[in-house]
Amino acid sequence: MTPADALPRVVHRVALVGAGIGASLSPALHEREAAALGLDYRYTLLDLDLLPAGWTLREASGTTGFNVTHPVKQTVLDQLDDLSPQARDLGAVNTVTVSGGRLTGHNTDHSGFLAGLRHGLPGAQLGRVLVVGAGGAGSAVAYALATAGTRVDVVDADPGRAVGLAERLTAALPGSRVTGGPAARAAEVAPVVDGIVNATPIGMTGHPGMPFDPALLAARHWVADVVYRPLETTLVVTARARGCRVLDGGAMLVAQAADSIALLTGSAPDPDRMRRHLAALVDGTGGGR
Ligand code: NAD
Repeated sequence: MTPADALPRVVHRVALVGAGIGASLSPALHEREAAALGLDYRYTLLDLDLLPAGWTLREASGTTGFNVTHPVKQTVLDQLDDLSPQARDLGAVNTVTVSGGRLTGHNTDHSGFLAGLRHGLPGAQLGRVLVVGAGGAGSAVAYALATAGTRVDVVDADPGRAVGLAERLTAALPGSRVTGGPAARAAEVAPVVDGIVNATPIGMTGHPGMPFDPALLAARHWVADVVYRPLETTLVVTARARGCRVLDGGAMLVAQAADSIALLTGSAPDPDRMRRHLAALVDGTGGGR
């Protein structure tokens, strides 16, 4: 017996809180990676549709932490004691750590997007990027790019959302260059950007099609999709056929989960191994977060 064997093993109990999460991939994605890291780690679902009204995170005592998803990424802020500076800027969390009874909110969607991009498309030019979609995912993507010094053009079918996001990010990140506008502005900006990110749900199962006119794609663009069910969206397939360097939504999904496991356990997940877990889990058929 080594001295390390004599130490009590740390037990990690993590829960995903959200609505309609029954088909989530997160339990398997987290538990497979935790097992590979040698952790005692259990990941459960707390579906708000099945919990009493008024339930709060504090009622899940003994939990190491939480992942938080739709529709409570913003509303859960009221229940937290602290926020990371990035979660405060974004006004949204996807990970909550519990320590000494204090709940701290973090956002790994933005860090996951950038890590996934750097890992999956090394050397991609980040001078100026078009982000289509200004909702939860678009906010995280635009924030991540702005922190990397990128000039960001956000467009949305609801122009007010894109303009509002640009104003919030400009206020939160002095010196950043983020502008917002209507979806039609994509045609004006596409010829001068290095990359294009789809942060709308268009392309996911139940929302087929292209989020923007495929004629805007040129071989010199890199293209990233945040949609991961399926991984091979119409955008991914079309952009690849045009000769673009392409990143599917699995990259962000895996990297945000890796950053979340790191925050919750202090361990260092392996994103390449997690990508293999994801490939085995979706097996080309898609899946949920
Ligand atoms: P959301 O509803 O908050 O925002 C979507 C935005 O897209 C809305 O503002 C809407 O007006 C806009 N939009 C829709 N169609 C458009 C179009 N054709 N052109 C321009 N704008 C359009 O949704 P969300 O939470 O941001 O999720 C978007 C997608 O991102 C979903 O498919 C979700 O599964 C995915 N997602 C992926 C990850 C990941 O880790 N890969 C993380 C979060 C979300």
